[in-house]
Parts: sequence; structure tokens; C-alpha cells
Amino acid sequence: MATTAEWRWRPGQERVAHAILDAMLTSTRVLIEAYPGIGKTRAALWACSASDTDAIILVRTRNEASVYVSEARKMSLVVIPLLARYGFCPVFRHVPRSIFYDLCRRIRSSNICNYYNNTVWRLFRSETIELVLDMASKCSSIEEIAERLVENNRCPFTASLMASKCAKFVVATYPYYLDESIRETVFSEIARERFTIFDEVHTLFTEYISRFRFLDLGEALATLRTAYRALRKVAKRNPDQFEYVLNMVARGIEAAKLLMDRDRRRKRRVSLYDAASEVEEALSEVLDASISFTHGGFLAVPAKLEVPETFAGMSAYIPKTLAKLGLSARTVEVPPPQPLVKARIVSGVTTRYRDMDEEMETRIGRELESILRTCERPTLVVFPSKRVAEEIARRIELDLLRFAAWRGDPSLEDPIHVDVAGGRLAEGVNVPYRAIIVVGLPYPSPSPAMKAVISRLGFEAAEDVMKIRLLQALGRGTRAGARAWILDERAHNLELPSWIEVEE
Ligand code: SF4
Repeated sequence: MATTAEWRWRPGQERVAHAILDAMLTSTRVLIEAYPGIGKTRAALWACSASDTDAIILVRTRNEASVYVSEARKMSLVVIPLLARYGFCPVFRHVPRSIFYDLCRRIRSSNICNYYNNTVWRLFRSETIELVLDMASKCSSIEEIAERLVENNRCPFTASLMASKCAKFVVATYPYYLDESIRETVFSEIARERFTIFDEVHTLFTEYISRFRFLDLGEALATLRTAYRALRKVAKRNPDQFEYVLNMVARGIEAAKLLMDRDRRRKRRVSLYDAASEVEEALSEVLDASISFTHGGFLAVPAKLEVPETFAGMSAYIPKTLAKLGLSARTVEVPPPQPLVKARIVSGVTTRYRDMDEEMETRIGRELESILRTCERPTLVVFPSKRVAEEIARRIELDLLRFAAWRGDPSLEDPIHVDVAGGRLAEGVNVPYRAIIVVGLPYPSPSPAMKAVISRLGFEAAEDVMKIRLLQALGRGTRAGARAWILDERAHNLELPSWIEVEE
């Protein structure tokens, strides 16, 4: 078991570790709301090492998976990363995700993927597992592990899957849990008898609702065409296996064209219902969702969440809607010893849709400008959307558009960083910001997909999305004890966590 001798617990970190350990030992569920920067990775790894339970840790990004692998090494643990099929596959490097899995499955079952064969042939199996274990204890990122496996002619995904089955601790990204087809074939196999740790558990909620999609007719047609082209390429090698699906997608393309051309549809005496059903069927073949024709387009609703019997979930904010997805559990709150961010809510301004007119944009612009002139650098400015950013930037003297176009790595040479809520800077980049300005509460736009989410989960789902985005942005300020401004009077009604001190 790893000891704590090499590091000092941060305030509250030990409580997080013990809450996870307790859930592991008693086979129960726990949700832990802990302030940003508390050190959840180490707390989770400590709990893993202290219990005798096999565990799978789910993280948001590949970077976070790499952090678990390298932190584990410092604690004399080996955590095997489950490498994605998509993105690490040496065969289909530029194929769209929507059809990649189908293509991979088909060439595997036809025995024509040499990377796969070299990995699973009996002679090479134990050598492959040794290779993965060796890489996990040496490489500094999961990309490096994947590269080394490809150099050794192994399929990175299959090799890591084989090693994961015998490893005590495994780290994987959320799609393994959320994607129904992957979960059935992969996750359920390695997660059997394992305790599940959801790192940044709010991701489960945001990722799940992001899978509600609305495709207008043009998008549906484009999706089917892309799928058809990619399938036809592979079908050349194996025509029999693809005949059925190629025909179905071709019929879907024809039906989508008829849906777009009412006169032609009438001339061919095809009903709207029949054409829509053909497209629904074809799309269901290439997307992992149930498809229904509605409002002149196709709504793709994700498969239902499978909830594990026992788990621990950690986040700076536990969305209320998680319980509606079946993830109800005992909650443990771990506040910091003192507030980490001081925030001021600016009254008289809001980005509420019905109040946004020229006058409001000018008012917000003036407030933003006066804060930017005096606040410390580096500064992060977060807008609810690119459209709002551009509207407001037009109304102030500072050349904010220049910053809005910023795309590079964050550096202190460019001390004002601008992003939209939920963007890369606003969520996960570790810059020691001294000031955070959130322009407007970042509610999700009322798209058809969001309306479907609200009709199924209630308006609380939209509130949760907004709050997650807001807290993620403010959480960027915890490293340097930043000052924050929220330019939206609606924030007065929000219940904010104790790591944010609201100044009157
Ligand atoms: S089996 Fe592996 S290497 Fe082969 S196509 Fe699938 S992901 Fe790629």
C-alpha cells in the first residue's frame, strides 16, 4: 500500500480519500462535492491502494488519464489506461467517428487487420500484456503508450483491453461508460466486480445530455453520405458483409433527398412517413441512438444510462439532475478552510435572452471595459457564446475581438484570455489567473436538442449545465486566489459553493 509519507494531505483531501475508501470497503455509493484543486486524483489513488478492491476510474480526457497513470507510478501503483479505439487506430486515421466502429468491427471479423491479429493470436498474448504493463510503468502519457504499441505492431485498444482485464486498477475515459455499444462489448467486461470511481462526475451528466442531437435534413443527408462513402471503401475488400448495410444507407440517402424535395416525393408517390422511416432506420445503423423524425429533422436520443451498483463520484459541483439519471447516493461535502475566489455580482446587467438589446450590450460592454482597465493579469473573460462575445466586443473600446480569435496555448505574454463557457480555457487549462470575468450566466442555447433534454429531465437540467459552466470558469481562479466578476444580476439568486465568497 502506498504511504502518505511522500506528500502532505491538502485541507480536506484526506476526507475525500476516506469517503472513497469507505464506499469501496462497504460496497456503497458516495458523491463527493469538493473544491477545485483539492487533489482528487491522489485521494482516489490512495483509496485504491488502501483497499483490496479492483477499481476502474473514469476521467474526462486522455490528459487526465495520463495524469492518473503518472501519479500512480509515484505511489508505486500501476494503473492501466484503456486506450480508445478511435484516435489511436493505426488503420483508420481520418475516418469520422460515426462510422469508425462499424468499419473496425467489420475488418476485425474478416481477419484482415494485422495489428489486431498480432495482438490476439495465442502466441503473442502474454507478450502483449507484458508489453502494456511495461509501457504503463515507463511512458509519460497514454499517447506514448499507444505509439509504442503500434511500433510493436499491436492494436493499442485491443492490447490495453487485454491488459486491463488482468490489472487491478484501470483508467478509462467517459465514452466507455456512456456509449452503449462500447459499454456492452468492453466496459461491462473489464468493469465486472470492479468498484467505479467517477472523476469529475458532472461529466456523466454533461456528456450524457450532449448526446441528445438534432440533425436537420441537410445534416442527416450529409451523415448518411459520409457513412456510405466510408463503408463502400471497406466493402471493396469484403462485399458480402457490407451489402445489407450499404443498401440500407443508400435507401436512407434517397429517402432524405425525397424529404427535401416535396414535389419529387409527391411525383414518386412516397409518403412523408415512409421516407422519414427509411432515414430513421439508416441513421440508427450509423449512430448510437434511437432516432425519431420531429420538427422537420431527426432527433437522436441517447441510450439509457446503466448505473453501477456501487461507485464514488467526485466533482466541484454535483448536478441535481444526476439523481434523475439514476445516480443518487449519499453526498459528502468537503469545503476549503477559507474561500478561494472572491466574486462580485454586477447588478443592472444580464445576458437573459429577452433583455439583450443594444442598450444592454452597451451597458455590459462598459462594465467589462472598466473592470478590464483595473483588474490584475492574467485575466480570463468567459462569454456564454461566441455571438454574445462579438456583440459586446463591438461596443467597447478595447479590441476584444483580437482576443476572441485567440487559439494558441495559454501564455502569460497574452494576459487577457477570452473563451466561451465550456471551452478549453474555461474548463481545463491551468493558468494562474488573477482575475476571472464571467459575462452573463452561461445557460445552454434553446436548441431542439436542449428542448428534448428539458422535456425529459426538467428545466433543472439547463440550470445544471449553466452552473457547471459557471463554476468551471470560476474554478480557474482557485490556484492564484483570483478576484471574480459575474456580469449578470440573475447570479444574486444562485446558491454558490463555499469556495466562492460573494462580496457585497
Ligand atoms: S482492430 Fe485495432 S488496429 Fe484494427 S481497425 Fe480496429 S482499432 Fe484499428
